[in-house]
Amino acid sequence: MLHDAHNHLQDEALVPHRDRIATAWAETVGAGGKMVVNGTHPADWPRVAELAARHAFVRPAYGVHPWDAAAPRPDDWLANLEQRLLDDPRATVGEIGLDRWILEGARPDDARLAGRHRAPMDEQVAVLLPQLALAAKHDRAATIHCLRAFDDLLPLLRSHPLPARGFLLHAYGGPVDLLPELTKLGAYFSFNPAYLDPRKRRQQEVFKHVPLERLLCETDAPAMIPPQPWRTHKLPPARDGSLINHPGNIDAAYAGLASLRGEDPAELAARVAGNFTRLFGP
Ligand SMILES: [Zn+2]
Repeated sequence: MLHDAHNHLQDEALVPHRDRIATAWAETVGAGGKMVVNGTHPADWPRVAELAARHAFVRPAYGVHPWDAAAPRPDDWLANLEQRLLDDPRATVGEIGLDRWILEGARPDDARLAGRHRAPMDEQVAVLLPQLALAAKHDRAATIHCLRAFDDLLPLLRSHPLPARGFLLHAYGGPVDLLPELTKLGAYFSFNPAYLDPRKRRQQEVFKHVPLERLLCETDAPAMIPPQPWRTHKLPPARDGSLINHPGNIDAAYAGLASLRGEDPAELAARVAGNFTRLFGP
């Protein structure tokens, strides 16, 4: 049984392929395999809820992504988030986080950021903290995106209440020496098959050191397309020619991680399933 700890099935890039994805999902992950579908802004939360109502394999997550932190939100967005947690015991908080790459690393013409106003770090923090507080208050998993911002994130994690059950650092890309403290704070770390690219040696090395009881696997579909030959599931490219990641590529995350760590794939899948249930609930 395989689980995708982090994707965006509600994304418009995946909507035209929904039926095909649902069929492939059932064939790929086995009975009971779940995916955590992460909202990014109050505007897409109803689509996440609709998917959770339609598919037993969908676990809904609601949050405001750091890339959307500067987009206008309704005044009652936090009350809306809390209500969604209260209405659905399976609901968790995500995708939330901090991102310095959009401020300092991304090229001004990066297509993924087109039309977005990039929130400065203090604004990103102000959007992150109340969402993290709700996750802690209701003890629901929080899924955190952190890109080149661990110096900003770590002091916040040290000084604010966190969900007792833990939180997910999705597609963890931080340094290996932060693993012990993050683990102590309650972090789980999800491996993305994009890290199987030979140029991602640093991330591969890091995931050899993540404690087995804190490992998860994810696709981040439609983003983070895996390199060949790990692309087990394909979708037609978007109109602008960009590749669209398929949640079925979760099997590549498991297979790649097992080979990276030299572990038996079936045993690793069983351990990851246990981790998934501990963090996201049965
Ligand atoms: Zn994501």
